[in-house]
Amino acid sequence: LGFSSAAHPRRRLEGKIALITGGASGLGKATAQEFIREGATVVLADKNSQVGRKSAEELGPQAHFVQCDVTVEQQVAEAVDLAVSRHGRLDVMYNNAGIAGPASAHGISLLDLAHFDQVMNVNVRGTLAGVKHAARVMGPVGSGSILCTASVSGLMGGLGPHPYTISKFTVTGIVKSAAGELRQRGIRVNCISPFVIPTPLVIDQFSQIYQGVGSEKIAEIVNGLGEMRGTKCEAIDVARAAVYLASDDAKFVTGHNLVVDGGFTSY
Ligand code: NAD
Repeated sequence: LGFSSAAHPRRRLEGKIALITGGASGLGKATAQEFIREGATVVLADKNSQVGRKSAEELGPQAHFVQCDVTVEQQVAEAVDLAVSRHGRLDVMYNNAGIAGPASAHGISLLDLAHFDQVMNVNVRGTLAGVKHAARVMGPVGSGSILCTASVSGLMGGLGPHPYTISKFTVTGIVKSAAGELRQRGIRVNCISPFVIPTPLVIDQFSQIYQGVGSEKIAEIVNGLGEMRGTKCEAIDVARAAVYLASDDAKFVTGHNLVVDGGFTSY
């Protein structure tokens, strides 16, 4: 039609159906926005229905909200089934919901194992439930991309509370384990390991450490942690990594951990 491809770049997720857990806020919401910009329809599945509904409204008609607590397997199964019944299929499942747990869990000799259970329940069991039910519906179709959010805390110790670090190491384990099997069925499984970004999860963590310090100051502190030549890690950096892994551009990429940290863990 005479359009130059530079003026009208192809949208990399045109027509794809994606479900994002923890999609109401932070990295999940930023990724939903980028997925939609790239042509996808997105189901935001989150425990927090108030924030989730508001986010879906802000994101427009290509976003839908479904309440889902990833620690309840039945709710994960229902969210996946809803995406399929409403949109015909599920192309991308992004298991992103996560919690950090109390910052006071830093000292291993003082570790409350109940906090460990809570964090593992959301970050590991919830992620595994998402992988399981995505594979259930993607398997018969023979294609799909499953993403999970790990963390730089899943690459080295000392960055987060022990339960969080352990949970994120385990998320990378889920990805390796599932990718090995699901490659036979045309399903790719990858994770993203972001650096620290001042989302509500991180602001809450740092507020426990810097008591009485306002959230704007905390965001400044967090942004200063990983500054690389004057730039900081932003939610959009994670969202763009997710677009790549979700898209057919990554058709031969599976079992991979895409680290988005400006080189922080590279030494
Ligand atoms: P966030 O608090 O903004 O978002 C997390 C979302 O998960 C919230 O909307 C929350 O309601 C939802 N959630 C929590 N428990 C849930 C449950 N049981 N079921 C369903 N939804 C639930 O935080 P974020 O930083 O955007 O976190 C998203 C993911 O990114 C998490 O897995 C987190 O560990 C990971 N991560 C964040 C950073 C960072 O610096 N922000 C860095 C590395 C990894």
